[in-house]
Order: sequence, then C-alpha cells, then structure tokens
Amino acid sequence: MSSGRPLVSYVVPVYREEGNLDLLHERLSAALEQVDVDAELIFVNDGSTDDSLARLVALSERDERVVVVDLARNVGHQIALTAGIDRASGDAVVIMDADLQDPPEVSIDLIREWQDGWDVVYAQRRTRKDGLFKRATASLFYRLLGTLSEVEIPRDTGDFRLIDRAVVEQLRQYGERSRFLRGMISDVGFRQKAVLFDRDARHVGESGYPLRAMIRFAVDGVTGFSSKPLELISRVGLAMSVLALTGMLYAVGTRIFFPDRVVEGWTFIVVAVFLVGGLQLLLMGIIGTYLGRVYDEVKGRPLYGVQQVYRSGREELALPTPLERRRGERYGSSTDAGAADGPSR
Ligand code: UDP
Ligand code: MG
Repeated sequence: MSSGRPLVSYVVPVYREEGNLDLLHERLSAALEQVDVDAELIFVNDGSTDDSLARLVALSERDERVVVVDLARNVGHQIALTAGIDRASGDAVVIMDADLQDPPEVSIDLIREWQDGWDVVYAQRRTRKDGLFKRATASLFYRLLGTLSEVEIPRDTGDFRLIDRAVVEQLRQYGERSRFLRGMISDVGFRQKAVLFDRDARHVGESGYPLRAMIRFAVDGVTGFSSKPLELISRVGLAMSVLALTGMLYAVGTRIFFPDRVVEGWTFIVVAVFLVGGLQLLLMGIIGTYLGRVYDEVKGRPLYGVQQVYRSGREELALPTPLERRRGERYGSSTDAGAADGPSR
C-alpha cells in the first residue's frame, strides 16, 4: 500500500446482505482497475443475523484490501457508517451501500472528480428504481427538508458520496448522537460537486429500513438541521396573542355597549381564556427560543472549517505531511518541488 498512489477507503455498511457481498466485491474490484489509486475496503457488519459476517471474513482472506469491522449489535445505518469512517485511513473515503443500489462503477466517477480537486463528490440520483411508496415518501421528505433545513442539503442524494480526508477530519468533530450524515457533510462545506447516476434496484434481500426507521431518520434529518419547528411556537404564539387581544376587546366592548346581551360572568371568562391562551403560547415561544440555543450548544459542532491558508500566494495547508504530499498532484499547481519536498523554506 505504500505505492505512493492515493489511498481511497470504501466504507460499506452491511446489514443482512449475504446475497450481495460477493457480487459487490467482484464489481467493485473490476471497477477499481480503471483508476490509479490504492483501495481499502471497510465493511462494517451492523449486527447482521444472516451469513454476512462469514462471507465478509472469507472475502478478507482472499483480498488483503478488505477490512471487516464487526459491530457488537445492530446500531443502524448512520452509526455503522460512522464506525467505518472512523477507521478509514484513506486520503478519501467513499460511502456506499452494500445492496448494489449504488453502482460500484459510479464510485470511479466520484474518484475522478476528487482527483480534479473536489472535496465532496456526491452521487445524485437521476432516476431510481424503488417502489412507488418509497419514491413518494422520499420526494416528500426532500421537499420538507429543503424548506426547513438551515443548511442546503442536496435533493435526491443518499449517502453515496466521496469525501476528502480534510472533510473526514472535520466530520469527526461532529459529536452528535442522532446522526444524519448527508446533512453533516453539507454543513461541513468545502468544494462540493454532484455526479448524476441512475440508482439501481436492490440486488437481493430486503431493505433494512422499515417505515419506522425511515420516519425516525426523517425526524433526525429535520430536527438536526432546523429549529424552525421551535420558532413556529413563537409565530403561532404571536398570532394567537393578536387574536386574543381582538377577542378581549370584543368581549369588553360588548359588555360596555350592549350590557343586556351579555350573560353574567361571560366577559370575565372570555377575557381570562384569551389572556391565558395567548400568554401561554407566547411564553412557550420564549422557552422554545432558548431550547433551540441549548440544542445548538449541546450539538457542539465545530464553528468553522478551514479549507486553505494562503501565504505569499502559496497554499500553506497542502505542505508537509506524507498524506498531503500524496495528495499534492490533485491541485496540479502544488506539485512543484517546494511543496512536494516539505520543509525547504
Ligand atoms: N444497513 C445497516 N444497518 C441497518 C440497516 C441497513 O448497516 O440497520 C445498511 C444496509 O446493509 C445497506 C445500507 O445500510 O448497505 C442501506 O440500507 P437499505 O438498502 O436497507 O436501505 P434502502 O436502500 O432501502 O433505503
Ligand atoms: Mg438499499
């Protein structure tokens, strides 16, 4: 692996995928012939109850690029991905599903774009072959996320993407427990690029995302990247207060100008109801605002990421480490002797 070629780590979460693994490995190996990189294939076994682990271990016997991370129990797709990314040592990491819905050949296009200098290359679905229900719910979800989210999360993209080492390092600072990786990667920033592809149907086996998990995932996505639902309380509170004020004026006005139309005690009750209702929502809005802040603080996301530092017209961050040196050729300009040999200043 010390060939001086860049190392690309594939991270593949595996949950009951026994029928897909051999074909996946075969197609991926064939595809990787087409690019000049070394690869590390990290399969994260997410507590599969079928024969997946044995198949993976067998693969690792045949192919020294294969690393199998066997998790202690089923923790779900997003955390399984995190476990894999945490172990990846590559200059870039490709995240891919094990069920061949993400064609391995497309990952080569992702790598090519990375070699052209992009830090995040996400695969965006031009078409998908899922059932009507999945397509409808997914489309609804992306629309909802699009309007609510505070960072722009690209539509019709799953987790299938390539991220540069710099992005991996930044991502590691995201300590949140409800993980919505595609949102986190959007939040990181850097140079992002889309590659269009046609998403295949699952090769064999069943989706590990039952409706219940899909809903939880959608909620994670929305609540992790938006405090708009909390802000909604304030807005509704304000609207209700205005309404309540009008109601109170009406009640008091009726009492004063048309006293004989009013039943004894009516005014007091109506005013009290409006007052308490309006006040309650308004105050809840205040709590909501603070809660939103607390939530932001608790997430403890990094405040910023530095893409590059320039000094005397030179890219400073692409300098000494061996890792950076291997990446050197990506930017073309920084392959000159000064940059490649490190401390020659
Ligand atoms: N997966 C996982 N843990 C789970 C569920 C799924 O690691 O609890 C993996 C699964 O093996 C696949 C990827 O996550 O590689 C996507 O899952 P799936 O294909 O079931 O989701 P769908 O494509 O139906 O949304
Ligand atoms: Mg799938």
